[in-house]
Amino acid sequence: MSDLKLTTRAEDFSEWYNQVVLRAELADYAPVRGCMIVRPYGWALWENITAALDKRFKATGHVNAAFPLLIPRHFIEKEKSHVAGFSPELAVVTHGGGEELEEPLVIRPTSETIIGHSYAKWIQSYRDLPLLINQWNSVVRWELRTRLFLRTLEFFWQEGHTAHATSDEAEAETRQMVDVYSDFALNEAAVPVIAGRKSEAEKFAGAEITYSLEAMMGDGKALQFCTSHNLGQNFAKAFEIRYLDKNGILQYCWTTSWGLSTRVVGAIIMVHGDDQGLILPPRLAPYQIVIVPIFKTDEEKATVLETAQRLRRELTAEGIRVKVDEREGLSPGFRFNDWEMRGVPLRLELGPKDVAKGSVVLARRDRPGKEGKSFVPQQGVAAAVARLLEEIQKALHDRALEFRRARTIEPADYAEFKRAVEKGFAFSWWCGSSGCEEKIKEETRATMRCIPLNQSLSTNPSPSGPTGSGRCVYCQEPAQEKALFARAY
Ligand SMILES: [Zn+2]
Repeated sequence: MSDLKLTTRAEDFSEWYNQVVLRAELADYAPVRGCMIVRPYGWALWENITAALDKRFKATGHVNAAFPLLIPRHFIEKEKSHVAGFSPELAVVTHGGGEELEEPLVIRPTSETIIGHSYAKWIQSYRDLPLLINQWNSVVRWELRTRLFLRTLEFFWQEGHTAHATSDEAEAETRQMVDVYSDFALNEAAVPVIAGRKSEAEKFAGAEITYSLEAMMGDGKALQFCTSHNLGQNFAKAFEIRYLDKNGILQYCWTTSWGLSTRVVGAIIMVHGDDQGLILPPRLAPYQIVIVPIFKTDEEKATVLETAQRLRRELTAEGIRVKVDEREGLSPGFRFNDWEMRGVPLRLELGPKDVAKGSVVLARRDRPGKEGKSFVPQQGVAAAVARLLEEIQKALHDRALEFRRARTIEPADYAEFKRAVEKGFAFSWWCGSSGCEEKIKEETRATMRCIPLNQSLSTNPSPSGPTGSGRCVYCQEPAQEKALFARAY
């Protein structure tokens, strides 16, 4: 890592983001344009994300499986809006083993079709339902404008696919996964999210209803954190996914799909990071604490390192993820900056004087300088660290929520709306017309992020009140729902 200063977020947020990703060694560019190499530190973060989610998926009755990367071309064409949505982004394999293939194969952009094909074989009767499968994999979408983690040709994710006997059950599953993702976002990623329904224009290609979670990044723009789709019977009809009900009548299933990808790493960077670099929420951080031993002489080195290793063992025994920075020939200041760049939530500084006094210095990543430092006895250090990690986790969430609140406006008119989306979210009455949505997008570059499930989203209250009805912010026609608009990643 070079010790050059980062571009600040205020100077150029997008450049700041790129520098953090590269200098914290989360990811690197690949030889193929738009692809991403996830480096070990970035992958360790992703592994913690996957573990936290996988546990939640299993607790709600889902099991994992693996479906193939290659899909026969005609599968994609079976569901009309699906093919219309995905055709421009498909990577197609036309040759294999030196021969032109009889039927081209697509590299999965998502797996509804191949899983639909399998479900049609596996589901016979109502006893086979519900079928609740998830898979962890990577998919390819031929994106033209790419950014590390945020939008790459190949990205890593999970996709859940379920089949149900009734429409109500499919809707309940779709909504349940919104809750599961929300719980993950709040309690693991410390990212406050707004759950809502996508407009017709923004919903998934092939879905009846798409729900998403939307989060505000450090520049006021929105990022879609994940999605959950109620697919109705669209894929069941395209792939003949049917079951015999209790009366022996053949019925089409109702299916869902839901996914969360490595974009979430981008969200974590942009929600929590500061001008010194990354700040990772303790629950997901690859290292929750880094021990930085400080010494000059060989004698000091021996005692300091011995104490450092003892503390490491004590912390590890309490389930805390620890790194000891044993690099030599680098100043303490350089090493502090380096771990700040990488966002490790806590730093434990240990010098000869601390060893003599039986204490350590703990420095919080989220509170730079003196304010974030405390002097703690070595005795019982693991409990103190665990407590501080909890505090940091909560502080990060609260800070992000406060930031979002301050930048979310319920505009009284279109002029105020335009100003709101310059800096953050506009939560506005909308008549439901896709014409207004399109015009707003053209004129302000803000897209409709979602129609929040909680219509009384607490923001700066408008005179018309948070619920009930009002007038569309664009056309002034009567409106029954409020929608969230923002410029988005
Ligand atoms: Zn309107």
